[in-house]
Amino acid sequence: MADASTVEKGGAGFEGVKLLLCENPLPPIDEAVEAARDELPRSNHYTEPHSAPLRELLADRVGVSTDHVHVNAGSELILRQLFDRFGQQVHLLTPTYPLFPEISEVYTETRLTPGDDFRFDLRELEVPDGTTLAVLVNPNNPNGTGFDTAPLPALLDANPEVRFLVDEAFVDFVDESVTDLVPEHDNLLVTRTLSKAHSLAGFRVGYAVLPEAVAADLNASNDAYPLTRPSQAAAIATLEHESKIRGRIADLRSWAGQLAADLRSLGVETFPTETYFFLADFAPHDAADVAAALRDRDIYVKPLDDDRLGPGYMRVTTARPTDNERVVSALEEIL
Ligand code: PMP
Repeated sequence: MADASTVEKGGAGFEGVKLLLCENPLPPIDEAVEAARDELPRSNHYTEPHSAPLRELLADRVGVSTDHVHVNAGSELILRQLFDRFGQQVHLLTPTYPLFPEISEVYTETRLTPGDDFRFDLRELEVPDGTTLAVLVNPNNPNGTGFDTAPLPALLDANPEVRFLVDEAFVDFVDESVTDLVPEHDNLLVTRTLSKAHSLAGFRVGYAVLPEAVAADLNASNDAYPLTRPSQAAAIATLEHESKIRGRIADLRSWAGQLAADLRSLGVETFPTETYFFLADFAPHDAADVAAALRDRDIYVKPLDDDRLGPGYMRVTTARPTDNERVVSALEEIL
């Protein structure tokens, strides 16, 4: 069995099933791997400053000018920078991506509830006085559902002193992006990543669509060469073959749907999702016990660390079908 550090590294020789970090179970597309490999011998050269070719391609895809785009080594880094600048008092919709409570000095929250399937209606958002940064994750992690973004322009206009950060890490699964609102709203910040739908987590490619002044500030204070040559090449090749990614999204969704159905047949409650991960309530079992029993079988999952939900909650990420079968047969033994 692999030891913990091997697992954390997604390590060489690891033959278990790793469903801890919301990773896409599919490898990068072949074109990305080839493009990265082709760049290796040219790695004595820097990339273009601020990954200009990738920024231009992203700007073109999103439909904004390049001045609105910032590229960095993963969106987590960008999120940290935005919290540093604007996160004096944060408002979160919880449960949320665990990074956010971790990097907020002070935060208030709106709770998403199991009764509403953890779905959120933006019309009901009341941003507390004094908030400097309101964070919306669309679709949300850990539950995987998106929200209707139609009320956002009114919210932006009604709260000019609040910066709204929309984390679109999983937006490819819902196609309800708000990037088109950025040029007209200087209080809207949108982050995205190629780690999820595009399978490039290990290459570390994130980007943000920002008001020009914010993008200029981040570009100026950042390493001028944030991506390696192979990472930039893999990103460009993947974006140039986006139709392949679309096909994969359909597969991932259907595998997640099958996995959820299999869990329900074992008596586990599952919540709706639009992505390749979903929330499940293993009650009366404790999710931490279930995770430990799975770990003994070389399967690594993520119990939800949220006291206010029951102890049975777990974020379940789909693997490929044969690995999912392994997970389900392990659970048949455990539950
Ligand atoms: N946002 C959300 C909602 C995430 O789940 C993650 C990673 N799991 C990230 C941002 C960060 O992704 P990355 O740094 O790989 O771009």
